[in-house]
Amino acid sequence: MTYNQPLGGNEMPRFGGVASMMRLPVYDDASGLDACFVGIPVDIGTSHRPGARFGPRSIRAESCLLRPYNMATGAAPFDSLQVADVGDVAINTFNLQKTVDIIEQAYNDILIHDCIPLTLGGDHTLTFPVLKAMAAKHGPVALIHVDAHADINDHMFGEQIAHGTPFRRSQELGLLDSDAVFQIGLRGTGYEPEDFNWSRSRGWTVIQAEECWGQSLKPIMADIRDQIGERPTYLSFDIDGLDPAFAPGTGTVEVGGLTIWQALEIIRGCHGLNLVGCDLVEVSPTYDQSGNTSLVAANLLYEMLCVLPGVSHHK
Ligand code: MN
Ligand code: MN
Repeated sequence: MTYNQPLGGNEMPRFGGVASMMRLPVYDDASGLDACFVGIPVDIGTSHRPGARFGPRSIRAESCLLRPYNMATGAAPFDSLQVADVGDVAINTFNLQKTVDIIEQAYNDILIHDCIPLTLGGDHTLTFPVLKAMAAKHGPVALIHVDAHADINDHMFGEQIAHGTPFRRSQELGLLDSDAVFQIGLRGTGYEPEDFNWSRSRGWTVIQAEECWGQSLKPIMADIRDQIGERPTYLSFDIDGLDPAFAPGTGTVEVGGLTIWQALEIIRGCHGLNLVGCDLVEVSPTYDQSGNTSLVAANLLYEMLCVLPGVSHHK
């Protein structure tokens, strides 16, 4: 078995070649793959700044510097997993309801191949149809959700489907294992003092950003791993969980967020879990004047790949 490798900088200058994720081969579908990168260029679910439709392209462009071996963790994902970029889901940019149906079908098609999708967003609406596909295959999943926002609104401007509602809709349909839902990084202003308590009243664990400030998140992640155990687990990472100092290129910014090194601790802390899918959402390159937000997103997606089940480690 030979595994796909990212195109090296000695074969083609890093600024050249096709701008696939990590300069991996581009496949038509997930057949034969253990994991895939897949883009969803949707932003018609956003409530404030748009632009996340350009996220997948921008993340792919900034991923060109990523090399295969993880020097921090010893992970060598391309030694034991077959990985490719399967391109973007052809969403209907004029119709959000049709778009979520298209996404659900696209993920059903990926999961048929027992392939783990790593999603480049796109606004957070997309996680709802992805979770529908996940639950159809695995049953209710454990969830680790990093975000400034709980995304459990009942509606936004009267609409049931939007980027602020995916986890309310998922809970209603029984897609989540309520004993094992963790929301990390929540903060900012709300409509009511109890805004985060809807999650808590469902049995979910809410770890507000303030509880994370100035400390390592390794102990929290060890506790989360203990609580989740062997359950199939989905990781949804909204880039606005990070402080805007690290990730300004996003739609609904909140100050006082997580650091990049805390984000790395969260993702690396998922090693050992039965991860069945991951996403990185809400990158809006339009507001990302340095390109740093997309660069961070590309690195976090690589780190997600590094903690998937079956990845070899060299130490
Ligand atoms: Mn979100
Ligand atoms: Mn958010």
